[in-house]
Amino acid sequence: MSVFQNAMRQLDTAAAVAKPDPSVLEALRHPKRILEVSFQVKMDDGSVRTFVGYRVQYDDSRGPFKGGVRFHQQTDLDEVKALSFWMAIKCAVVGVPFGGGKGGVTVDPKKLSSTELERLSRAYFRAIAPFVGENVDVPAPDVNTTPQIMAWFADEYARYASRQVPGVVTGKPLAVGGSKGRMSATGQGGLFVLDEHLKKEGTDPSSVTIAVQGFGNAGQHFARLAHERGYRIVAVSDSRGATVNPAGFDPQAIIEHKSRTGAVAGFVGGQDADPALILETDCRVIVPAALENQLTAENASRVKAKIVLELANGPTVPEADSIFTQHGVVVLPDVLSNAGGVAVSYFEWVQNRLGYYWGYDEVRQKLETLMKQAYADVRGEADANSVTLRQAAFALAVRRISEARAAKGWQ
Ligand code: NAD
Repeated sequence: MSVFQNAMRQLDTAAAVAKPDPSVLEALRHPKRILEVSFQVKMDDGSVRTFVGYRVQYDDSRGPFKGGVRFHQQTDLDEVKALSFWMAIKCAVVGVPFGGGKGGVTVDPKKLSSTELERLSRAYFRAIAPFVGENVDVPAPDVNTTPQIMAWFADEYARYASRQVPGVVTGKPLAVGGSKGRMSATGQGGLFVLDEHLKKEGTDPSSVTIAVQGFGNAGQHFARLAHERGYRIVAVSDSRGATVNPAGFDPQAIIEHKSRTGAVAGFVGGQDADPALILETDCRVIVPAALENQLTAENASRVKAKIVLELANGPTVPEADSIFTQHGVVVLPDVLSNAGGVAVSYFEWVQNRLGYYWGYDEVRQKLETLMKQAYADVRGEADANSVTLRQAAFALAVRRISEARAAKGWQ
């Protein structure tokens, strides 16, 4: 089953709860616009290569399209469509005034030099520039795209528009209009959701063990902040390996080890382990923070954790969701748990438009308020309808999107 088909099955389950007007449901089955671009990049050896990229503008009922750009060798249109749909749902769940969009380039950026990466990033953005804009569609980072790449995007757009428009892209470095707290926002937002959930359960962080799959932007910041908060991180993995320590380790030391060696494996404070088994670690919480389709019908019943905190987008396929429900495993869904990234992207966009920048504490406080409210809204919807948190989040989002469409006379 494709990633987009899985996303549409999630929509169907939500529709059974939200009961939207059929015209809204039909509209939400189709992206509003799909852009496929090809562009040429001069490589360091003088050869010229052609790359294919996408930008999917899924829904703009609630505001401009919004969503990251992924550089990955497996990125294709199906994946970008699913990710853009999830962005529309996510922005509605946390109540930021955006619709959903997503972009991607089919490329393994690890095989490019830094100058090739810059030329590719600029060429992709030149190709999509006529279709984006701070009031139209606002890209951001995702897998393998960094603040540096966002700075190249924004600079390329400034050349295209003949003026500076920092609000056309979020996740930029602070030096060119980024927001304090954006780098750690996805991890921090996920931690607020976990805190709220455990507060409801009356659990103390120090008794909670956590395994994290994926040690990039989302996974690293989450692990570091969760450790500071008193949680015990017992396993982490990346695409090359894994390290475990049942007594818990300090993620900051693993971050330093990874930045020195390029991998989490070989960390002296832990034992190397099979990354394919990380989600089956004996612990209380697992945090998929890498890619989609990681929890499937094949491995879901071997999961020992009681809570899945989804920092990645789409890590759990619908069959695994059903198994978790049967086994009493609570899934804190991606459209809520990883929404801290888009929330602080929204704050960055506001600051860019104001031309006035907030301090770190102000951003963190605003993020906390927003994430706690979103958790409370989703929890309330789940309790009222006796459904899972994922069904509740999707139902809430579909209702909010419906309200916007009705207000505009689109239905
Ligand atoms: P990233 O490129 O910074 O990091 C990805 C990490 O996943 C890397 O450590 C990589 O080694 C690891 N990885 C890849 N394949 C793996 C595998 N098979 N097993 C274990 N690890 C693997 O990307 P990111 O920005 O942290 O994004 C990770 C996930 O979080 C994605 O699903 C993304 O869509 C989602 N997300 C990110 C943000 C954000 O603000 N960056 C916001 C919301 C959601």
